[in-house]
Amino acid sequence: MILINAKNLLLKTVFLTGITLTLFVNIAISQVQPSLGGSSRLMTNALSEMERGEYQRANELFRQIIDSNLPIPPEMPYYFAETLYQLKQYDNSANFLNKYLELNGFKGDNYERAKALEGMLEKPLNDIKTCELCDRRGYQFQTCFTCEGSKHLEQDCSYCKAKGIVGCSRCVGSGLITKRNVFNIVEYFECERCSGQGRLTCPTCEGSKLETSACRTCQGVGRLQSDQICDHKAEEPRHLSMLFNRMKGH
Ligand SMILES: [Zn+2]
Ligand SMILES: [Zn+2]
Ligand SMILES: [Zn+2]
Ligand SMILES: [Zn+2]
Repeated sequence: MILINAKNLLLKTVFLTGITLTLFVNIAISQVQPSLGGSSRLMTNALSEMERGEYQRANELFRQIIDSNLPIPPEMPYYFAETLYQLKQYDNSANFLNKYLELNGFKGDNYERAKALEGMLEKPLNDIKTCELCDRRGYQFQTCFTCEGSKHLEQDCSYCKAKGIVGCSRCVGSGLITKRNVFNIVEYFECERCSGQGRLTCPTCEGSKLETSACRTCQGVGRLQSDQICDHKAEEPRHLSMLFNRMKGH
């Protein structure tokens, strides 16, 4: 009798736990849905900006979806990739496109368009890879403004404090060495190391008073990254482009 009761109780508990779980899941879903509403509204706005060719505006709206922590609509990575392609951010575009294909596979609504975009990205991505003027994401390098591209900087030698000489450590700058002879009498000798001068040419700058060190701004690379998208064309020296302009005038 007691055993049956216990079994009954257990069953009731399982049943109740089941209800509680169902309730929990329902609450969780109803909490998610309004927020998905938020991101799908942003997405609808982004799509209409895309239709109008306002890719910069669309880009901002897609970024809002990403930054908002709202659930990401499944087709969003494709549209974002297309927007980034239009803005010539090819590396970013490829990242989102790959994510889209990875998440949705061929079941995605935009699978065909995604594959077409993948093909369109091939050339610009290859141009970036072969260009020496930009980083691997396609942003132009600029000459370091601190070292002006020389990669290192000359500054006062810190070892000799720009004096070019340092005190001799063997004779402590006196030029003389003392020794006690067998009669316990102190004898003075000229310091061999500094030839009695008491000082030596600075071993760091070798007397130049200057020290070169890698430029800290560019870590000794001579150039810096910029947010300028590269057109993969070397800039014409100013005097040349002026000359060419004059030629066009004739
Ligand atoms: Zn530099
Ligand atoms: Zn010495
Ligand atoms: Zn020095
Ligand atoms: Zn380039």
